[in-house]
Order: sequence, then structure tokens, then C-alpha cells
Amino acid sequence: MTARVLVVDDILSNVKLLEAKLTAEYFEVITAFNGEQALARVAAELPDIILLDVMMPGMDGFEVCRRIKSNPATAHIPVVMVTALDQPSDRVTGLEAGADDFLTKPVDDFSLFARVRSLVRLKMMTDELRMREETGQSMGLVDAGQTLIEPDPSGRVLIVEDRPEAVAWFRAGLEPKNVVEEVNTFDEALIRTRGGDFDLIVVSLGIKEFDSLRLCSHMRSIAEARNVPILVLVSESETRKLAQALDMGVNDYLMRPVDRNELLARVRTQLRKKHYADRLRHNVQLSLEMAITDQLTGLHNRRYMSRHLDTLMKGAVASGKPLSFLVMDIDFFKSVNDTHGHDIGDEVLREFANRISQNVRGIDLACRFGGEEFVVVMPDTDIGFAYNIAERLRMQVESDPFKISRAPGQLKVTVSIGMASSTGAADTAESLLHRADQALYRAKREGRNRVIAEAA
Ligand code: GH3
Ligand code: MG
Ligand code: MG
Repeated sequence: MTARVLVVDDILSNVKLLEAKLTAEYFEVITAFNGEQALARVAAELPDIILLDVMMPGMDGFEVCRRIKSNPATAHIPVVMVTALDQPSDRVTGLEAGADDFLTKPVDDFSLFARVRSLVRLKMMTDELRMREETGQSMGLVDAGQTLIEPDPSGRVLIVEDRPEAVAWFRAGLEPKNVVEEVNTFDEALIRTRGGDFDLIVVSLGIKEFDSLRLCSHMRSIAEARNVPILVLVSESETRKLAQALDMGVNDYLMRPVDRNELLARVRTQLRKKHYADRLRHNVQLSLEMAITDQLTGLHNRRYMSRHLDTLMKGAVASGKPLSFLVMDIDFFKSVNDTHGHDIGDEVLREFANRISQNVRGIDLACRFGGEEFVVVMPDTDIGFAYNIAERLRMQVESDPFKISRAPGQLKVTVSIGMASSTGAADTAESLLHRADQALYRAKREGRNRVIAEAA
């Protein structure tokens, strides 16, 4: 893994030392010697991770961190505070400022690379999601995120720990803000992880009855829980275990004896990241759905249909099964708009889309093709069967007037439908569409409110 690391420290030898270590491991290193310089480099070069000294003349590291984290363009970049102070209170101040982790000077290689690799790995994942979310936003599909950093998130926390007094201590710290559940056996922990919908899992590495590292590795392979952060509890003597835990993708750790404020701050950081990534994923999913959906009717849009039709045609040819195609156009729709207004026209379009949905099967693909024209693609359907469905829909539209929200309260609507069926390997989506269109044109010419199949 390679990444661009910004090293910030007011003492040249400190910068040089970190630079040498990181460069030896093939990280790209950029440097800054005070707070202002650091902010300028962050803005200009968007590094993948920042190693930030706390005590600097002028603007200190806490303030630099606060500014990075409150800027929407840089808030996602992980910040590791590098400090000579090893007091829990300083750690808490840093975490409050939004820091993602801590290293104490002199920095040992193990913790340096463990932290940098794990934070960069996480950033790469969220970067991908962020890019997709930005695309969705630029296409106007989803709103830009409202809340950048949740000041005080809460969530569902699972604690895996075999000592009741330790569990009680965690509960006292985390409840009632968070929902806390506890387990103390290997199997139960896995079952809960699978079905629990947790926002954070806390695992003690000192459990006697089973190997909690093995548990962490099992948890990491559970698909439903892949995005749930894991925080491990370790004692000083367990650094080897901690290294292995971080290697397998555990997100963070707490050293025993655990400081209560540090617990709260680290839980808060993990919940914030989890909620942020959840929101990104949700928005990406939403923009995918919106990109293929017609906003007025909720049917698929033309873009999606055009893409998908090729796949369906190939499937039809491969399986030797027929595929039928309906093109529908509401009759005299322009006069609905002219007489009752465009918004009533929209209501009619929506109701028409509902009726299509009610009359086709799950495997049929219904789309709004544009304007008041709709298309249904029916796989594994011969023209005779398709005709029955089209005729049933036509009659239902004709016999049951559409409700509208203004006087006279309902409207008589009719529809014309053209049909075509695939005829084998030589057929293309385009030729099929063209033939169904020709049939629709005939239906209009011959008096509307009718179904016409293409001439055999
Ligand atoms: P025909 O029976 O020959 O199909 O006549 P028509 O009036 O339905 O056909 P025409 O294609 O002339 O008119 C279609 C109208 O559909 C024109 C356009 O203003 C209207 N239209 C297109 N998209 C929308 C929409 O999203 N909402 C509304 N309310 N009207 C739309
Ligand atoms: Mg029309
Ligand atoms: Mg038209």
C-alpha cells in the first residue's frame, strides 16, 4: 500500500526521522513546520493521512486538527496526533478535536505503521464511496450531506467480555446514551454479530475461555458486519496480539486500565465514522436507483430500458424463447394538459403508470419511455399472450375513469398500444422497437383506443 503522508512538526529532526521511516516503506512524504503551513499543504495537496505534532509555537496541533475536521473538503482525511505527552487528558483533547489516533514520541515503528496502514486502508474505502456520492450530487440525484460531523452520535454497542465487573463498568460509561448488549461465549458473539445490527463491537483480548483474536477474524468475515467497527481492549503485555488484531482489520484499541473519557472519545470517533460511511453508502445506493428511475412515475427510465433491453434480447436468443414488446401512448393527452393543467396531466401519467404495474408480471420490465409514452418488455412471452395483457390493460383504462384532484374529479382516458415480438437471432432491440412503434402508429391512425400487433 502506498499513500501520501503529511508530516507536521516544528522541530526539523523530528520531521526528518518520520520522513526517513515512511520513505523507507515507500510512502510519499510531504512536510510542514507549523500550523499555517500545514493547513495550506492540506488544502493544496489533500494528503491521505496527516501526522500532526501537538506542541508547536503559534497554532498548536489541536487547533490545526479542529480546522481540518471542520472543513468539508478535508474532514475525511485521517489525523494522527504525535505527542510527547502521554496523558489520557491530552488524548481526549485530541479526540475531541476530531483526531483519529495518537502516537507518542519517540514513535516506535510498530505502532507507526500499524496506525498509518489501518487508517489509510479505511480512507481508501471511503474515498471510493465519496467519489460516487459526489457524482450523484453533481447529477442532482442526492443532496449534499447536511451534517458533516455528528457532534454526539449514539448507537448499538456489543461488548464481548467475560468479566462481569468490566461489563458493568462499560455499561456505566456508555448507557443510557447507547444501547449496550453483552456476550461472553464465542458462538453467541458470532450469532449476535450476524443478526445484531450493531454500530460498534468491543472485544476484550484477555478472555480466558476462547481465543478472542480468532473471534475478531471470524467477525471480519461476516458479510453483514463488514462495516461494523471493532474496538479491542488490550493490556500492555498483549502488544503482539494487538499487532495481529490491527492486521486483520480491527479498527481501534484501548489500553487497560481504560480511562473513562478516552473510552467515550474513542467510541464517539468510531460511531461518527460508521454513521458517515453508512450515509455515503446509502446516498450512493440512492443515486444508483434514481439514475435508473423516472422521477414522476417511479417506473424505470429510458436509459435503463435501453441498456437492459440488449441483455434481454440476448437472453431471448440464447434460450430460444420469445420476447414481446408493448409501446403505449395515451390518446389526446395534450388536451388533458390544455384543459386541466400540466399538474393534472402529471396525475394522469402517474395513475397510468400504476395501472401498467398492476397489469404486468414481476419479470416484465415497465418503463416510462418519455412524455406520455410507455414501454413494457415481456421476456418469455409470445405475441398471443402479450396481446391478452395489452388488451386487458386497454380495457381497464377505458372502463375505469382516472381520479383527479380537481373538478370534475375524474377523467376518461384511453390508450393506444402497438406490439411486436422477437423473431430470432437477426432481431435487434432497435428493430423490435421500430416495429412496435409502427404498430402504435397504425393504432392511432385506425381510430385510437386499440391494440395492434405488428403485421406478421
Ligand atoms: P395522440 O392521441 O396522437 O397521442 O395525441 P396526444 O395529444 O397525446 O399527442 P402529443 O404527442 O401531440 O402530445 C403529447 C403531450 O404530452 C405533449 C406534452 O406537452 C405532454 N407531455 C409530455 N411530457 C409530459 C409530462 O411529463 N407531464 C405532462 N403533464 N405532460 C407531458
Ligand atoms: Mg398521446
Ligand atoms: Mg405522444
